[in-house]
Amino acid sequence: MDNFFNHTFTELQTIVEKLGVKSYRAKQLFQGVYKRGVLDFHAMENLPKALRATLSEEFFFVLPDVTEIVHSEDGSIKFGLLLDTGHVVETVLMPEKGRNTLCISTQIGCKMACQFCVTGQIGFVRDLSAAEIIGQLMAVKSYVRNRRITNIVFMGMGEPLDNLENLATVLDVIQDPFGLDFSYRRVTVSTVGLLDGLRSIAPKKAQIAISLNAATEAARTELMPISRIYPLRDIVAYVRNLKNLGRQRVTFEYVMIKGVNDSPEDARALTRLLAGVRCKINLIPYNSSPYTKFQTPDEEAVNQFHRILLKEHFTTLVRESHARDIGGGCGQLGMKYLEEKR
Ligand code: SAH
Repeated sequence: MDNFFNHTFTELQTIVEKLGVKSYRAKQLFQGVYKRGVLDFHAMENLPKALRATLSEEFFFVLPDVTEIVHSEDGSIKFGLLLDTGHVVETVLMPEKGRNTLCISTQIGCKMACQFCVTGQIGFVRDLSAAEIIGQLMAVKSYVRNRRITNIVFMGMGEPLDNLENLATVLDVIQDPFGLDFSYRRVTVSTVGLLDGLRSIAPKKAQIAISLNAATEAARTELMPISRIYPLRDIVAYVRNLKNLGRQRVTFEYVMIKGVNDSPEDARALTRLLAGVRCKINLIPYNSSPYTKFQTPDEEAVNQFHRILLKEHFTTLVRESHARDIGGGCGQLGMKYLEEKR
């Protein structure tokens, strides 16, 4: 027995064929679950009775329980989702003009230990299964029936490329025309820059965002220990050499931290580092928390940094975090784990 949400369409097709049933049944099944939200084989009336019975011996449908819902002043909603191991994952829905973006998690805790990130302070607890990742989407989807989730960002807890196999399953289901049917343009995987993993998913599986956060090797290693293994130089070379991107661009995220990486000199170092690289740059003013020593930069420092990049013709914007007032901003998820440790 396994959770249905752990399987891609292709896997399901193989299983259905093994049961001696025509493969179009797999399509009906997938569509029933993902398009119509029927999570009970016995209710799938377009399938033969015998097949329904066999399937219910092979699979079950388990979604995380929504145990907490917190509304932010900016319209975002943070969901606390309880898994069957007793862990809680946090997922944030962010309505913006014309879109509803869902920020989902791929791990509980994280191994990357980025100094400024709350999830990094928890340490690694475990990977989420594909079903638990897709489950975040399905649980929120059934909760907000009046709004359609239009975009998905893997920017919640964890490092998506450190849970590669499950991420691949999830991306598959998200994009499958019989599944959730999202264009890869509306799906963003954000990573500290695990290049080996990136090579396996870029470029048509998802939009790529890489958290750069510093413009020199020394500064980055200080903030992000993983930089010892995947240095800036290699990350930039990787992006520079990407082929067949069409109009697609890699996004570099740069979390601006007061007095650490927010000076005009840092901005100039960034323009030198990325000179001639086709990319977008998102500046994210740091969200402070009781669990890290870093602070939000002054607005003027952010604007000045932004102007220096614009002057060098970089496509760049300042991304205001959503849901900061409810502990749902970038790098704030998972505070409850640290509260428990205290
Ligand atoms: N592990 C992935 C995805 C999770 S973090 C990654 O690192 O990309 C998503 C983004 O939030 C990253 O760009 C990260 O640098 C940023 N971030 C982390 N902590 C933050 C904080 N306290 N304030 C603002 N952004 C933060």
